[in-house]
Amino acid sequence: MESILVLTHTDGSALTKASLEAVAAGQELAARLSAPLAIGIVGAPEALNAVAATGAKFFAVTGEAFTQARYATDAAALEALCRAAGATIVLAPGSSRFARVAAGVAARLGGFVDTHITALSGDATVEASRWFYRQRIEAVLSRSSRPWVLVLDAGSRAPFVAEPGTATVETVAVEAPATRTTVTGVRAPQQGQQTIRPDAKLLFVAGAGWTKKQPDGQIHTDKAAELILGFLHSTSSSLGSSKSLVDQGGEGNSVLPFLTHMNQIGQTGATPRHPKGLSTCCHGEEPHVVGWRFIADRRAISLDANCGWTRGKADVVYIADAFEVVDKLNALLASGK
Ligand SMILES: Cc1cc2nc3c(=O)[nH]c(=O)nc-3n(C[C@H](O)[C@H](O)[C@H](O)COP(=O)(O)OP(=O)(O)OC[C@H]3O[C@@H](n4cnc5c(N)ncnc54)[C@H](O)[C@@H]3O)c2cc1C
Repeated sequence: MESILVLTHTDGSALTKASLEAVAAGQELAARLSAPLAIGIVGAPEALNAVAATGAKFFAVTGEAFTQARYATDAAALEALCRAAGATIVLAPGSSRFARVAAGVAARLGGFVDTHITALSGDATVEASRWFYRQRIEAVLSRSSRPWVLVLDAGSRAPFVAEPGTATVETVAVEAPATRTTVTGVRAPQQGQQTIRPDAKLLFVAGAGWTKKQPDGQIHTDKAAELILGFLHSTSSSLGSSKSLVDQGGEGNSVLPFLTHMNQIGQTGATPRHPKGLSTCCHGEEPHVVGWRFIADRRAISLDANCGWTRGKADVVYIADAFEVVDKLNALLASGK
């Protein structure tokens, strides 16, 4: 019989959303296979109270050395959790923290790892889905090797939600490995300056059109920056970009300074998951739109009635000037309408 372990971590004091998604996936899988469920955490064991209602067995690795994300300590902690739970199937959230250690943990356990898992299915067995070739082909994987570590893509399913309870947590003793990395602090963009927001309801994409000559024959980059940032500020959307636009910044021209290649959506960029997406001043070419695979409702504002979006790639296309539309939108948002 399978034995399922969900690995979790916090972002501060509470479990991350991706951890809660993994818990929901683990609970569903355990029920389907009639298999025991365990949940393990690195760091704050009290965070497991949020998932006490799962009725799972709870394990934690605690101690100062394990509160920081660091390869050596995280790998040691996760290995110990897997061994303590006797897990055959290990589900881990696809956070940067766990994604970097999952393969190492699988190797230490003599098991296998698969990453970017978007769904779990199968009646009596475990079948894991993932996309290949930049989200163009979906494959369903099964393996007989155990333990099998499955790293779940964040945003693939609804998170676990229940009233908090009291989790009885078994502490797993791990000797902190020798480390060369000392965490002296965290440097992150100031609140409000971060434009990539994976949990946002809307993805706002800026294309190269924002920096092109407009119908008056002039370039209006400053106005473009003001409109884009104004929209982001009022809606807390996540900011994506086309490759053409971020490439301009990379060639020494600081066009829209708040955009980097991290914002790029597409074949050579990101494939985020948001319920809605609004593309502006972007042509909607296939290498870009392939990054929209998991955006549920796709809309675009383009001057070009023959752009890629109008050719079946968007649900709604507004053939309009994005400068005018976003200006009007910002005014409506500011007036609370
Ligand atoms: C191997 C490979 C990988 C690639 N990977 C990626 C990738 O990951 N992501 C990506 O984005 N691209 C990628 N590309 C590039 C992609 O093919 C396109 O070149 C790019 O997406 C074009 O960006 P764009 O639509 O913003 O710019 P453009 O093609 O210049 O389009 C600008 C659009 O803005 C419109 N416009 C201008 N002014 C306005 C206005 N005022 N209001 C409304 N609309 C306006 C124009 O009509 C035009 O349609 C890749 C290409 C290759 C070959």
